[in-house]
Order: sequence, then structure tokens, then C-alpha cells
Amino acid sequence: MIDCIFCKIVAGAIPSKKVYEDDHLFAFHDIQPAAPVHVLIIPKAHVASLADCNASHLEDLGRILLAAPNIAAELGLSDGFRTIINTGKGGGQEVFHIHAHILGGAPLRPLVDCVALA
Ligand code: 5GP
Ligand code: ZN
Repeated sequence: MIDCIFCKIVAGAIPSKKVYEDDHLFAFHDIQPAAPVHVLIIPKAHVASLADCNASHLEDLGRILLAAPNIAAELGLSDGFRTIINTGKGGGQEVFHIHAHILGGAPLRPLVDCVALA
């Protein structure tokens, strides 16, 4: 198996708090939530990041975006939610298995607060 935390989560080798699964996707609570609701949606098929995607990933990318509002609704985010895909080290990506963060459950700061100050 590829040495990837999220592939191991999909395989059940690392435990997670699953919120959704189908043939192509897996979604689970983030271990360090940045909001009252913070889940990650990932494709079961490993691809490192958005920058590594090509036309063969179109369906999984679409599936992630279409699953997001359904999962958010299931988790009670009727007022809305934020979707973030960090890409590469410069984009703040730490786990190199593509994932969409779904955040909500409280007022979220504007994105202008994202820049890490030294
Ligand atoms: P990134 O910075 O790559 O966009 O986000 C990675 C996210 O994965 C972080 O929010 C981090 O808390 C979460 N994470 C890292 N390792 C684990 C893990 O083993 N289990 C779960 N549930 N989340 C993890
Ligand atoms: Zn992986």
C-alpha cells in the first residue's frame, strides 16, 4: 500500500470518524477541527493534489463538489459552509492525498485572515 495517511484511513488501517462513504468517496471528521464542523472529503483513488489532477480525475473532482452540500446538510450546516482545497506546500497542504475541507457551524473569518504572519 502507498504510504499515505488518507489511503490508510480509506482502508480502515487508521481509524477515523466517518461521515460518508460510497464507491468513490470517503468523508470523515478532521482530527484537529478548525470549526465546530470540519470534515474532509477525499477520493478513494489516491492523487496527491489538485496540481496532480488531469482529465482522468474529472469525475472524482465533480463527485467531491457534488457531495459537499449533501454532507454539509447531513451535518446540519443549513446556513452554509466553506469548502477549501489546499494545494501544495505554498497552499498550506500538509497531507498529500487530495481533500476538500468542509467547514461550518459558526461564523467563519473572512479569507483575508488566512495569511500566516511571522
Ligand atoms: P491540509 O493542510 O493538507 O489541507 O489538511 C490536512 C488536514 O488533515 C488537517 O486539517 C489535519 O488536521 C487533518 N489530518 C491529518 N492527519 C489526520 C488523521 O490522521 N486523521 C484525521 N481525521 N485528520 C487528519
Ligand atoms: Zn492516498
